[in-house]
Amino acid sequence: MKTERKWLAEEDENKGHTAIAKIVEENRVLLSMNKALMDNDQFGILVTDLDGTVMEFNRTAENLLGKKADHVLGSYIGNIQEIGQYVVEALTAEKRFEKIHVFVGRKLEQASLVDTFPLYDEDSRLVGAFAQLHDITEVCRVHERFNYLTNYDELTGIPNRKFLESILAEWMGEDARYQDKGGLTVVHLGLDRFKVVNDTLGYADGNDVLKKIVQRLQSSLKTHELIARVGGDEFIIVAPYADAWENEQIGERLHTLFNEPFMIKGYEFHMTASMGIALYPDDASTPEDLLFKAEVAKSYAERNGKNQFVLYTKRLDFDSHERILLEASFRKAMDLNELVLHYQPKIDMKTGLISGIEALVRWQHPEKGLISPTEFIPLAEELGLISRLDEWVLREACEQNKRWQEMGFTPMSVAVNLSSSQFMSHKLIRLVETILKETGLEAEYLELEITETMAMNVNYAIPTLKRLNALGVQISLDDFGTGYSSMNYLTKFAIDSLKIDRSFIWNIEKGESDSIIVSTMIRMAHGLGLKVIAEGVEDTKQLQFLNEHGCDEVQGFIFSKPVPAEEIESQFLATLNG
Ligand code: C2E
Ligand code: MG
Ligand code: MG
Repeated sequence: MKTERKWLAEEDENKGHTAIAKIVEENRVLLSMNKALMDNDQFGILVTDLDGTVMEFNRTAENLLGKKADHVLGSYIGNIQEIGQYVVEALTAEKRFEKIHVFVGRKLEQASLVDTFPLYDEDSRLVGAFAQLHDITEVCRVHERFNYLTNYDELTGIPNRKFLESILAEWMGEDARYQDKGGLTVVHLGLDRFKVVNDTLGYADGNDVLKKIVQRLQSSLKTHELIARVGGDEFIIVAPYADAWENEQIGERLHTLFNEPFMIKGYEFHMTASMGIALYPDDASTPEDLLFKAEVAKSYAERNGKNQFVLYTKRLDFDSHERILLEASFRKAMDLNELVLHYQPKIDMKTGLISGIEALVRWQHPEKGLISPTEFIPLAEELGLISRLDEWVLREACEQNKRWQEMGFTPMSVAVNLSSSQFMSHKLIRLVETILKETGLEAEYLELEITETMAMNVNYAIPTLKRLNALGVQISLDDFGTGYSSMNYLTKFAIDSLKIDRSFIWNIEKGESDSIIVSTMIRMAHGLGLKVIAEGVEDTKQLQFLNEHGCDEVQGFIFSKPVPAEEIESQFLATLNG
């Protein structure tokens, strides 16, 4: 309210409002009120005598207050609503009131600004009171609109972040009404992959999706729960309670809202959301901190598979702190040449000699040492740096393989793992072609590993694999057994080999079922004319089993960990050449 008053006061000054007040004030005399002043239609003017009987009441006052001068003149000012009480106080207590904002007149929305003060004669004796009214209906309307725009989201009509923060501040303040009522729950809800919807549908329809989502969210809210939009596809839901059971309930409730698809232009869109939940007063004591904690939990939900809700715990803080540090240094890693390739040999089961090499990327961190790709590849994906990383690995591995050939070692293929975004990129075929050309490596000496999960979009995978195959490069299906490939599709994929996922190999000795799965995979692959590679082989029992069942190649710590290029040369390539 304070800021509002100030704003109105400034607005008024421009219109000479204070100037008139001054004239009256400076004279401090009510002699004969200038007729011109009284008829000034910009201001409503009202004068009473010492008893509060209305002596003057101009035309503008008539309009503003919706009362005829005939009725008001000679009557007691205290009977005039809203304004009367101030004038009476000016008379009885000689108080001054400036810029009081009141609603007057027949139409409730008509707002006026009032100045009221006592009037004195030459001897400084109180003789009456003066009130000046100013119509600010229009100003208020503008202000209301301005207020709406600064507090609400235009697209969806729900509160925006600013408004949300002020509400939270109010609810969490000193005499907060929720303090002793069990606290507050804040849910930060982010839509998963909304960007894809926007990209495929365009902004207008994307906005429609957002509106529909908000409607659905809103309709699920209970009394006293509130929703605000705090980013393009991010929302906050505030609920007035905070106990673990209720929190799971609200998480579940919001989560199930996304089970049904959203219809846009006759198409069904399945949307999911990641949510983080934080509690006041358990997790935070200020609105900013409460919102921050919910966001930390939401990013955790996003990073760990999306489409779920996560309750905030202190442990997440540590995670996010570590992550922020890691993120910052990863951005520089590529410029600083901190990425390195290590190589792991594939061993031919029959000869026991090296028959191929897999390139595996590592990050040589200046303080933390070697960091595994399972840690920084998801990071690179999120930071939008994955295509740069992929391209670097591809070029580096091809260059290295060419170098080995030039050194006179027996030529063999180098395998490079593709990330899913690289596999989905329309630039993939061109990139592979270009790099082969630039490095001078023949296509048959490059192998691309794609995971079974990446091939799940079969309509895309089948033609893409065909085109890669046509370039002459080898293709293998990595981590086989962890995805959902059906045999039916496997026959349609232009691939050369299957790599049985290491989890199956490790269980060979443990359970009968895994050994049956592995032997079946080998037979099945052979039936399709594919080569079979077992990864993660660590001991002789596993090796023996694989040998007995006709596995073609093995890869694993039993022969070598991934090592720098020089070690591959000295320990494997050199022996091959005799
Ligand atoms: P992957 O392609 O299935 O690679 C095999 C992983 O198993 C490697 O982990 C390797 O070090 C590990 N490994 C090999 N033999 C053994 C063994 O006997 N025992 C055990 N315990 N582990 C073994 P790494 O290097 O950490 O790579 C993990 C994953 O990261 C890779 O799985 C691959 O999916 C991905 N990756 C690695 N390098 C790249 C790359 O340059 N680009 C992309 N896009 N992904 C990469
Ligand atoms: Mg691999
Ligand atoms: Mg693998």
